[in-house]
Amino acid sequence: MHELPIVKSMFDICMRHATANSVKKIIAVNLKVGEVSDLQDEWIQRYFDFLARGTIVEGARLKIERVPLVVRCQKCSESFAVDIRQGKTVECPKCQATEFAYVSGREYTVDSLEVV
Ligand SMILES: [Zn+2]
Repeated sequence: MHELPIVKSMFDICMRHATANSVKKIIAVNLKVGEVSDLQDEWIQRYFDFLARGTIVEGARLKIERVPLVVRCQKCSESFAVDIRQGKTVECPKCQATEFAYVSGREYTVDSLEVV
């Protein structure tokens, strides 16, 4: 399972933040997860609950916002959003090239924490 280290690193960020700011309890975590991620929300929450057991993060709700996939054409530098559910070959809308660099859509970011 390759997902666990990803969730673990997000969990570590929460813990570091909580420790640095003398937070008593984290009640919710706002996450930004790229659309390309095949991690289901409920699995992220499940892993997180597992890691959080017995810590001040225990019981925190994860609020997951999906970040759309955006790529930039290697040829003409056009940036555009890709609908990954389409399942078609991706082409640059401007020059029809098929080589791209990722702009967003693969990230796992802790956006903010709700604490008491
Ligand atoms: Zn292009």
